[in-house]
Amino acid sequence: MSSISNDLVLFNELVEVLINEEKSHPVADRIDPGKLYDTVDLSLNPSAIIDDEFKKVLKDVLVSTPKTATSLFFNQLFGGRQSKAVLGDLLAVMLNNSMYTYKVAGPQVGIEQEIIRQSCDIIGYGDQSNGTFPTGGSMSNYMALVMARDAKDPNCRSEGMSKPMVVYTSKESHYSNGKNASFAGIGKNNIRYIAADSNGRMIPEKLEQQIIEDIKEGFTPTYVNATAGTTVLGAFDPIDKIADVTEKYGVWLHVDGAYCGSVIFSDKYKHLVTGIERSNSFSYNAHKMLGTPLTCSIILVNDKKHLHDSFSNQADYLYQTDGDDFNLGKTSFQCGRRNDALKFWTLWKSAGTNGLTQIVDHQFELANVAREYIRNNSNYTLYSFDDSISICFNYKDLDPSALCTALYEHQVTVVGFGSFEEDTFIRLVTINANNEKNDILNFFKILEEFVEKTPNLKKIEDKILEGS
Ligand SMILES: *Cc1c(COP(=O)(O)O)cnc(C)c1O
Repeated sequence: MSSISNDLVLFNELVEVLINEEKSHPVADRIDPGKLYDTVDLSLNPSAIIDDEFKKVLKDVLVSTPKTATSLFFNQLFGGRQSKAVLGDLLAVMLNNSMYTYKVAGPQVGIEQEIIRQSCDIIGYGDQSNGTFPTGGSMSNYMALVMARDAKDPNCRSEGMSKPMVVYTSKESHYSNGKNASFAGIGKNNIRYIAADSNGRMIPEKLEQQIIEDIKEGFTPTYVNATAGTTVLGAFDPIDKIADVTEKYGVWLHVDGAYCGSVIFSDKYKHLVTGIERSNSFSYNAHKMLGTPLTCSIILVNDKKHLHDSFSNQADYLYQTDGDDFNLGKTSFQCGRRNDALKFWTLWKSAGTNGLTQIVDHQFELANVAREYIRNNSNYTLYSFDDSISICFNYKDLDPSALCTALYEHQVTVVGFGSFEEDTFIRLVTINANNEKNDILNFFKILEEFVEKTPNLKKIEDKILEGS
C-alpha cells in the first residue's frame, strides 16, 4: 500500500495532466454511453493492479470526463474554478471532519457559523437567525418546506398530517418543489403553480387570489416558494410584494436563491432581492454564482427556533459536550455531514467580501456583453431580459436542441437549451467568473463558424398557425 505522500505526488501529476488537457481539449470527446465500458477500463477486479497501470487508468478517466472548468462550458448553472475554494475543499478532504459536533469538527464549526452569521447580517436577518449547510439547493428547499409545515401544525411532527395544507410556487420555479411536496407528505397535487409574467416572475396578485380561494375552500395555505434566479430565465420573483401577501395570511416565505441568491454580495444587484429580510428562510448555492466546488449550499432561517423544532432530536451518544450552539448536528438533516463550509471560507477569507462582489458583478458584465452582441446581430433572436445571467437566444432559424446536441457531439462547446411559454431556445449561462469578454465573443464566433460549415442542421419547425 502506498502512503499518502506518494499519492499526493501522483495527485499533482494527474492534476497537471488535467490542466493541460483542459487547454488542449477544452471539450472532452463524447463517449457514446453504449460504448463506455469498452472505451475506458472501469472494471473492478479481484486482484490489485500495478501502479503504472493504475496511473494510466486514472489518466484515461480524467481525459474522458466532461470538462466543467473550461471557457467552453456553458451548460449548467455552475462552471469555472475558483482556485482558493478548490484549495479549501482539498484541505477538507484531508481533515475529514464531520460537522455534527464541536468535539469532532472544532474550528470548522466556527468557520461554518461565521459564514452563516455574515450571510444573515448581509440580508438583514436579526439576532435570532441562524442556518446550516444542506446537501444542495433541492435539500434547502425541502428543509424550508418541512419547517413551514411544522410551524403551521406543530403536531404534525408526532402525529403526521392533520391539516389540508397547500403550498405555492411559480410555474418557473425549480422542479425540486414538486418532489419536496411529496416527501413532506403534502402531496404534489397540493402545489399551486402561480402564473409568471412575461419576464418569468411570479405575479403576486395571482398568488393572493389563489390563497383567498384556498382559504374559502377550507385549505391551509402553508408555504410560498419565491425564486431568486429561475432556472431557465434567471428571473427574480418580486420578494417585497410577495412578502406583503405571506405576512397578511400568515404563510411561510422561503426564497430559493440557489442560482442567483449570491446577488446579496453585490451593491449593484442586491436590489433584485429587495425585501429578502422579510422572508422566513433563504437559501443560496455558493457552488453556482460564487464558483466553489460542488456542493456548497446554505440555508438561512430568520428564527432559528424553527431549525431546532424541525430537525433536532436527542442523541445522547452523540451530543455529550459543548452545548447546542457548537453542536451543529442539532440543526441538520443528516447525521454525519461533509464539511462544505471550508471551501467557501477559504475563498471568502482570501478574496474578502469585496472579492465576492467582484465575482458576482463580473457575471452580469459578461451577460451584458452577450446580450449586446445578440441585440446587434440580426441573425439572433433574444429571449432574456436585463439583470439576468441566463442569455436565452436562437440563431437563424435553427432548432436549438438540435444545434446544442451537434455542438456537443462535435466538441465545439457545451451549452444547453430551455423553454419559456411557447419558445424553446439556447441558454448561455455566464456564471463562470474566470471567463473574460473575449471568451463570450468567442462562443458566438465558434457557433457561427460551426453553423457555416455544417449544412442540413435541423430548422425550427414552422409553428402551426391556429385559425382566427
Ligand atoms: C440549481 C437550483 C436548485 C437545486 O440546487 P441543487 O444544489 O442542484 O440541488 C434549486 N433551485 C434553483 C432555482 C436552482 O437553480
